[in-house]
Amino acid sequence: MKVAVAPPARTASPGIAARFEKLGIRSELDLALHLPLRYEDETKLTALGQARSGGPVQVEAEVVEARVEYRGRRTLVVKLADGERELWVRFLNFYGSQVKQFAPGKRVRLFGEVRPGFFGDEMVHPKYRFVQKDAPLPKSLTPVYPTTAGLSQAALREKIAHALDTLLLEDTIEPKALAKLGLRPFRESVLLLHRPPPDVDAASLEERTHPAWRRVKFDELLAQQLAMRVAYRERRAKSAPPLPDAHTLTNALVKSLPFALTRAQRNAHGIIARDLAQPHPMRRLLQGDVGSGKTLVAALAALQAIENGWQAALMAPTEILAEQHYLKLSHWLEPLGVRIAWLAGGLKAREKKMALAAIAGGETQLAIGTHALFQEDVAFARLGLVIVDEQHRFGVEQRLALASKGGGEPHQLMMSATPIPRTLSMSYFADLDVTVIDELPPGRTPVVTKLVSEERRDEVIRRVRESCRDGAQAYWVCPLIEESEALQLKTAIETFETIRATFPDLAVGLVHGRLKAAEKAQVMTDFKARRIQLLVATTVIEVGVDVPNATLMVIEHAERMGLAQLHQLRGRVGRGTKASLAILLYHQPLSEAARQRLKVIYENDDGFEIARQDLLLRGPGEYLGARQSGAPLLRFADIERDTDLLEAARAVADQLLAAKSRSVARHLDRWLGTRRFYLKA
Ligand code: ADP
Ligand code: MG
Repeated sequence: MKVAVAPPARTASPGIAARFEKLGIRSELDLALHLPLRYEDETKLTALGQARSGGPVQVEAEVVEARVEYRGRRTLVVKLADGERELWVRFLNFYGSQVKQFAPGKRVRLFGEVRPGFFGDEMVHPKYRFVQKDAPLPKSLTPVYPTTAGLSQAALREKIAHALDTLLLEDTIEPKALAKLGLRPFRESVLLLHRPPPDVDAASLEERTHPAWRRVKFDELLAQQLAMRVAYRERRAKSAPPLPDAHTLTNALVKSLPFALTRAQRNAHGIIARDLAQPHPMRRLLQGDVGSGKTLVAALAALQAIENGWQAALMAPTEILAEQHYLKLSHWLEPLGVRIAWLAGGLKAREKKMALAAIAGGETQLAIGTHALFQEDVAFARLGLVIVDEQHRFGVEQRLALASKGGGEPHQLMMSATPIPRTLSMSYFADLDVTVIDELPPGRTPVVTKLVSEERRDEVIRRVRESCRDGAQAYWVCPLIEESEALQLKTAIETFETIRATFPDLAVGLVHGRLKAAEKAQVMTDFKARRIQLLVATTVIEVGVDVPNATLMVIEHAERMGLAQLHQLRGRVGRGTKASLAILLYHQPLSEAARQRLKVIYENDDGFEIARQDLLLRGPGEYLGARQSGAPLLRFADIERDTDLLEAARAVADQLLAAKSRSVARHLDRWLGTRRFYLKA
């Protein structure tokens, strides 16, 4: 059931409609699903003698007198009494008409806190209304709704009450299924949340664990599951070139490597190989902690496309990372005769023209680069597979732009070293297929992490000097300045100068985001070749950089960084067989949030656990990135706290879709209605 925009008829004006719109309310159903933040208990009256209890109470008394006084500023003072005691009420903001309203003898119901005041007990700015003697009390708690400027509680309440009285709110789930899940009927639940009886378990309402809350959250989660599944099915209905594994190039690569694939890599490769053989577009997210060897799995996928006569493209979020991929993949694939093109912002006009021509002409089999790959002037002859590294760094639009380069729908492999917690992949990412590489290649030694206060900087400097003299290499990560790129650059250069002065005996290099591509590449080449011993870097090295001889990392102002970022940075060391150390320098005093983050990073080295903690600390926003704009955000359910409901909703969504139930459309309409979306990327 869909109802057009329906702000209150009497007050309908563009202004009011905009205010409802701001609250996300566009239909009668949206009104019914606009749930209270809290409640006020106006179901009982407290005698004035008992009113001074601390919390807000409702009292009733008669006006004795009302006058305007000057107590520093104009104040309306009303004296009331209930036969036993007196109560003083003060209004600092009031209209002239209000003074007359409080005529002696009138009966008033007031809601607020009673406190000891100048003359006796007083209330400041209570909610009040005039009543007749023995006027009935409300039978349910009074809801307090989230609202916005210019929209009063009273107007919102009236509008919502009207919606509740007129809507059927019929169930979209069979009574039998509900009973199995232990869920209450929908109508009953919604009504209870808007109008709870006075004896309701207030704590369970507040904590949103009350059965009525659970029902509403379940329905919200079910809508999200259904929407994601529908999007998934729509994609599966599209066609893409089937690219069966011919095992010629892929086997040749595996044979040429100096190491064997890990079990997890073999498994991921097998799954992707099957996906690519399908006649509909793959959308798979390959997750694996830093250093788990995702690049190799991507290389195998690219080869499978190439074996079938199609082109593959690999896109990375930074030039440093794209360049590393280019070097590594050239090293692996050129001996197999694969023709690779490099495309990034920093190319000379002539080089770029040649690369573009080779990509458009089909000579290039694998194109590697940054977002330069999906600029307008790039046309692929036969793009069969798009690989996006560190997918969370790209927006949906960028990925779509690259995907559309093929003419049809190419297969897509997304990779991420920011592990997405299970609950997130079950909810916001439910339209993607996810494969996890849950194993690191053998022979890695875990990184030891130390938290060191800035005051002990001298010890850290000694440690760096000793390590570098022993032949190791180190990163010195500059403080993160998020506010401005210019400031970040200044900080990077200053840090570099300081470090160079501190270590006159070491070869110190600097890499930051504002260097030209060729300069960046030169620094990284020098570092790899050990011509640089200590590399001062901004967080540009956070993704993908791979120099196994670098075994020490110092991170300045670690307290400013996020958990995922720290984990990624730390993953730049510990990539060889030697023991590695990450030193997190922090400045006192630490905020509580920073203290918690450092504790998590110190205690955990499993990226998944860190991501889970991150989700608990910060909520899902960070992970969603550009997805957030498309995915139906959850207003009521909390995927970490309501995991049981999330799992139940997933099962029910499957059942409903399998049974082609009419409830699917009804349920989606109810919950998403005008907010309905289809996630495309
Ligand atoms: P990430 O998953 O973080 O992208 P990479 O693909 O960069 O990790 O791999 C990290 C390092 O491990 C690279 O030097 C890569 O060549 C190496 N590597 C990948 N797979 C294996 C393996 N099965 N055995 C040993 N080393 C491997
Ligand atoms: Mg990588």
